[in-house]
Amino acid sequence: MIKSVGGVPVQPRHRLSCHCGAVVLELHLPDGIVDPRRCNCSMCRRKSAVVGSVPLDAIRIVQGEDMLSLYQFNTRVAKHFFCSRCGIYTHHQRRSRPDQYGYNVGCLEGIDPFLIENVPVSDGVHHPADRKT
Ligand SMILES: [Zn+2]
Repeated sequence: MIKSVGGVPVQPRHRLSCHCGAVVLELHLPDGIVDPRRCNCSMCRRKSAVVGSVPLDAIRIVQGEDMLSLYQFNTRVAKHFFCSRCGIYTHHQRRSRPDQYGYNVGCLEGIDPFLIENVPVSDGVHHPADRKT
């Protein structure tokens, strides 16, 4: 977990906004940024965002719910949300963990995701839900 980034503290209630400001979420981050990572799946490699993890009840939409668009593909389990005006990915409900949202660390107000070192890359090409053991 990461409690501050480049000297900027992660607030227990931290705001997340899209680029144009239409969509604002409040994230409950009592443990800071948990499990930040990138992913190499067909979707994530295109957006290249650093994604953090929260339980579903840790995101509250402050404004712009009507501006959020939903994108689903392939198995259509995951729900990828983005601002319909500026196109920025804000958060998504995971396929691998439907009890979690991933969120765009770069949308956390005041946080520079490039200052987070050694962000791991998940092997989304070989998705855990596709692995047959
Ligand atoms: Zn926007």
